[in-house]
Amino acid sequence: MELLRFTLHYGGHLVVPGLVAYALHRPRWKRAWAVMLATWLIDLDHLLAEPVFDPNRCSVGFHPLHSAWAIAGYLGLLLLPRARVAATGLLLHVVVDAQDCLWMGS
Ligand SMILES: [Zn+2]
Repeated sequence: MELLRFTLHYGGHLVVPGLVAYALHRPRWKRAWAVMLATWLIDLDHLLAEPVFDPNRCSVGFHPLHSAWAIAGYLGLLLLPRARVAATGLLLHVVVDAQDCLWMGS
């Protein structure tokens, strides 16, 4: 089960943005994918927590850049054409993190 959870989490962070970039941003999908992968930087907010990494802590709603306010901001960024790719990556990131929360306690 842990291998499946790990695969869905990191595969989701890596593969899903690639598929979305390929579907929505051809022919420059690799650039869009790179921008979406850069949104992993929001995980720097884990450095504010103690412990920094806890596999049984749900990031969504706990860390500042994974909060409801941050997610609302990411939704707002969708309105700005120049920020749309990054916003899509940020929202995909949070969705992948949220599915990981479903595994906790199982
Ligand atoms: Zn995260």
